[in-house]
Amino acid sequence: MIEEVYRPASPDEAVAVKEREGAVYLAGGTQVNWAPSGMNPAKAVLLAGLLPNDVTRRENGWEIGAGITLQDLVDAPEAPAVLRRAASMIPARCVRNMATLGGNIAANRTDSYLLPALIALGAEVETVERGVLSVEAYITGGEDALITRVRLPKTRGACVVDRVVRSSAALPTLTLGVRVAEGEAVIALGCVAPKVTRLREVEARVVSGALETETTVFRAVFDSIDPPAGLKESAAYRRYITATMVARAVTACRKQRG
Ligand SMILES: Cc1cc2nc3c(=O)[nH]c(=O)nc-3n(C[C@H](O)[C@H](O)[C@H](O)COP(=O)(O)OP(=O)(O)OC[C@H]3O[C@@H](n4cnc5c(N)ncnc54)[C@H](O)[C@@H]3O)c2cc1C
Repeated sequence: MIEEVYRPASPDEAVAVKEREGAVYLAGGTQVNWAPSGMNPAKAVLLAGLLPNDVTRRENGWEIGAGITLQDLVDAPEAPAVLRRAASMIPARCVRNMATLGGNIAANRTDSYLLPALIALGAEVETVERGVLSVEAYITGGEDALITRVRLPKTRGACVVDRVVRSSAALPTLTLGVRVAEGEAVIALGCVAPKVTRLREVEARVVSGALETETTVFRAVFDSIDPPAGLKESAAYRRYITATMVARAVTACRKQRG
């Protein structure tokens, strides 16, 4: 149970208080205060009102405040459409009204809807302690630096986000972000490994033209993953549906590119 909360006046102070007190950051609190997360901290540093929450379109991309709620992101017409769609995939509006973009990245859940989209879009985070890092480096490095902004470059090619989920109340079986451009491919998947992961070997073969058809992409993905079983789905089903969805996403990207 949280017994002490701190309300710092600046992001720098938040970092100092967190380190001094051994506290956790509390943004929307939907992960920190969610019993199944097992976090149960005694001390929390409140981030509400401390971090930017704007969406700014720049010539070379977008900057989005880490404090933006997922619902505000869904409702921001100036934000990239695929990111808005990924944010809308957490089905409960009451959760989206509290959950923040920075909190979703830092929670680093394998079933995040946003992480595969952010990685496919080549997103970076601005942090107080570690400067600018790619989202991929942040989550694979097990970072806990305070995220203040998310930067999205103008990307080339077509990007698709999707998921497999049994019902609106269930946790997802698969989350994915796929982008294909001339000489470039990103396949980022949630739920198939302990952290959101990229299929780099398959990406290289998509780029080289070795995987021209949906069937060959399916086979390559199928052979390169070994996902765990879920609460209600077998490992074999997850492997099959993941390969199917990635193959379809690559085809959709290729069609969008023309
Ligand atoms: C019913 C329910 C369903 C959910 N379903 C999903 C789901 O399908 N997929 C999914 O990914 N999540 C899910 N979540 C978890 C959660 O809603 C999201 O991960 C959410 O985006 C977390 O954001 P938050 O602002 O609430 O984070 P918080 O709970 O406040 O924090 C989460 C973690 O990030 C840290 N943190 C927060 N902000 C920052 C920051 N700016 N910089 C650095 N560290 C920070 C905190 O210290 C904590 O460790 C669900 C939660 C609930 C209650």
